[in-house]
Amino acid sequence: MEHPLAAPHGRFESIVQKLRDNGHKITPQRLAIVKILAKSDGHPSVETIHTQIKKDFPTMSLATVYRSIVLIKSLGEVLELGFPDGSNRYDGNKPFPHPHVICVRCKKIVDTVPDSLDDMKKEVALETDFKILNHRLDFFGICSTCRERKA
Ligand SMILES: [Zn+2]
Ligand SMILES: [Zn+2]
Repeated sequence: MEHPLAAPHGRFESIVQKLRDNGHKITPQRLAIVKILAKSDGHPSVETIHTQIKKDFPTMSLATVYRSIVLIKSLGEVLELGFPDGSNRYDGNKPFPHPHVICVRCKKIVDTVPDSLDDMKKEVALETDFKILNHRLDFFGICSTCRERKA
């Protein structure tokens, strides 16, 4: 097993540091969760993270994984994407609001950073006279892998 501290850089270290600064225990199990969250490949669900963790920690329960994620979220180090069917997905790689593109077939979620985002925020604030604090912007579509599979 690759040592959790070996990868990935930046986000992993910041999340661990935040846990430490707030007096939380750094267990190997927790480090394994942080490692997955730091990458957030495809924006995993708690179930996906739990499945990956179980390979190294077979006795770890879904509830424990969930509690760790809630804790990291409370420290502002992970972005939670809630969906009406209750299938929350997580991004610890970019813990701030940003637009997402969601594949309706395989449910993969990827980040997108359109240049027009800042202009859009200004336009919305101007049009509604709101002070914008946050945003949630999802695009739904079919990813290239799923389109190829269909053909
Ligand atoms: Zn897809
Ligand atoms: Zn994201």
